[in-house]
Amino acid sequence: MYVVDQYVLHLLQGLARKIDDSYKQYDFGKVIRLLQAFYTRELSNFYFSIIKDRLYCEKASDPKRRSCQTALAEILDVLARSFAPILPHLAEEVFQHVPYIQEPKSVFRTGWTTTSSVWKKPGLEEAMESACAMRDSFLGSIPGKNAAEYQVTIVIEPGLLFEIIEMLQSEETSSTSQLNELMMASQTTLLSQDAPNMPADTTELKGTFLINLEGGDIREESEYKVIVTPTTKEKCPRCWKFTAESSNTLCPRCADVVGGK
Ligand SMILES: [Zn+2]
Repeated sequence: MYVVDQYVLHLLQGLARKIDDSYKQYDFGKVIRLLQAFYTRELSNFYFSIIKDRLYCEKASDPKRRSCQTALAEILDVLARSFAPILPHLAEEVFQHVPYIQEPKSVFRTGWTTTSSVWKKPGLEEAMESACAMRDSFLGSIPGKNAAEYQVTIVIEPGLLFEIIEMLQSEETSSTSQLNELMMASQTTLLSQDAPNMPADTTELKGTFLINLEGGDIREESEYKVIVTPTTKEKCPRCWKFTAESSNTLCPRCADVVGGK
């Protein structure tokens, strides 16, 4: 599964545990506050906005698309079960209309949420938090503008941070990598040293990220640069990303999806 899909399941497990504790203390107000914070901040503002392209534009059976559908199914299950004691009719209605369940049973006859430590993986939080720090500095530098109209170059000195970010993008430049999905840019380039000949209309942002693994046994602070340049590509009429070579032609990804039907 995509790292961001694993990460959202990791967050979901944390949420389920906190909700469990709140019910044990009869603190229903806290259950609602936890749920509200999760679906506005983690889901609506972050996760749903970045997975739209994979959901709507990749091939129906593409593992990339199936990966986020798996996460979405798990999210729906945990959220509906979590509010079932407070909103029983709504939770039951959700359960009776889940399209991928053939013979739905009542939400009240299928048990409580189950938490699993399988989603707690070393390096997962570091990968997402460092990539999100770079994403925040990029998006903060283009207020009110469409991120897809820019291309991003990330420069990280060789080391642990570079290796972690490489989990999200193995190619040097990509418009379809996990890293570029997070950036929401037209394309992302990952380098371990400064690139020569950057165009004049470039914005350079600097930051540092402290990696803390294995309870503090591994600590390494790395500097990174986020270089933002307006894209030279055209808008693809199918996915609306700025990844097409000329106007009114499909981008290579969409040409492949449409042609493969
Ligand atoms: Zn396209």
